[in-house]
Amino acid sequence: MLNTNSEYLRPEIMDVLRAFDMEEEEFTHYFSYSGGKFFNSIQYGVRFFDFEDKFDPADDIEFKRYAKRFAKLAFYKVLSEIKGINLPWGALTGIRPTKLAYMEKASGRDFKELFEKLCVSKENIALVEKILQVQNGVCSGGKSLYISIPFCPTKCDYCSFITAPVDKTKQYIEKYVDCLVREIESIEPLVKGVSSVYIGGGTPFVLENEYLRRIYEAVAAVVKDDAEYTVEAGRPDVFTPEKLELSKRYGVNRICVNPQSFNDDTLKAIGRKHTCEQTLHAYAEAAAYGFDINVDLIAGLADETYSDFQKSVEKAISLDPTNITVHTLSLKSGAKLKENLKRLHVNGIEEMISVSRRLLTTAGYEPYYLYRQKYQAGGYENVGWCKHGKACLYNIDVMEEFADNIAVGANAISKRVFAKEERIERYATPKDIPTYLSKIDSIISKRIELFK
Ligand code: SF4
Repeated sequence: MLNTNSEYLRPEIMDVLRAFDMEEEEFTHYFSYSGGKFFNSIQYGVRFFDFEDKFDPADDIEFKRYAKRFAKLAFYKVLSEIKGINLPWGALTGIRPTKLAYMEKASGRDFKELFEKLCVSKENIALVEKILQVQNGVCSGGKSLYISIPFCPTKCDYCSFITAPVDKTKQYIEKYVDCLVREIESIEPLVKGVSSVYIGGGTPFVLENEYLRRIYEAVAAVVKDDAEYTVEAGRPDVFTPEKLELSKRYGVNRICVNPQSFNDDTLKAIGRKHTCEQTLHAYAEAAAYGFDINVDLIAGLADETYSDFQKSVEKAISLDPTNITVHTLSLKSGAKLKENLKRLHVNGIEEMISVSRRLLTTAGYEPYYLYRQKYQAGGYENVGWCKHGKACLYNIDVMEEFADNIAVGANAISKRVFAKEERIERYATPKDIPTYLSKIDSIISKRIELFK
């Protein structure tokens, strides 16, 4: 249990305690500020720790930002000493390390100094530096369009997304597509100059051809620009030549084939109901149409060993896709995995991440975006890798919050970026499909209002 004299620091401190599995332990924390110095005192049992950090905040917002930062750092140092371990991202608990690096750069500071102070590992500082280099000149600064397809063949046991097996939701699909088409028509005035379109899921290819065609047609009627166009087609078992043909015809230029693992036992264990053979078949079909292809992998699935994971990375590389995304398994509320597990301990996760970085770099891939989620195994992250010049613009714009994102469908968060004011306004649609369907009129007008 945490006792603190500064309640507003509690959520940040709890993030650090959770990262070390220490949130049930008793700590007493006292924070104060005086004369440009931030003081954090921590008591754990009979041990006392005192920290002092100098910084002169420009205003109240900066004061709070640094108070949180120094409190987290104090706890990180205490817990690291007690447990005798370092975490790869040190006291940095946010989901967008690269965004923090950009903020430091914009303030005229070298982000590396802050990251070193926050005890981020040398490898991760180098990773962020490389990503910033690769992103240089790639972001559009324009806007992007996201279309949400919350349907999947079955539910993977690690997934917390609002998707449900299509057997249970197929009665909504027709009405869902009707609403989606109405939404897309309504945003015609907003999507002028759009630089990327992303149809994501879920598993968009679970939709029957006719529904897919209606969505593509609606997009084609409003997006007139020469935009990057991605479909996160999804699981290999729903790929068909007709869906690929349709995608090509409507201008899709990037497709995601998501195996997650090339180990059949793992796929069975996580409830994915497809095989490695089907992945290879789907990949070959998609490649024949000339799409840029992204392949997703997850480190830490089921009881995979280091060697199982290494084989998956090698297999993905051998297919020669333009993009490979390496996720680290995370424990999320709403996932079946979370029902049976309180903690996520993955043997060898450090080596898995390390080998993925080494093999991908050797094969000529560059890291181009990264994000973190809460409760990821070993405190690691998700990294998108690409062949030189093949970064996915949508992923960069959205992850770094460089561009407005006009998002339609259920569980879609539209964002309007006010870069000069360093402010973002959001509008989120309902997660639940029946609620989304019943509120479609107000959803349409609220989104127009956001971008007016
Ligand atoms: S395919 Fe993706 S969205 Fe669908 S259940 Fe599995 S992880 Fe979740």
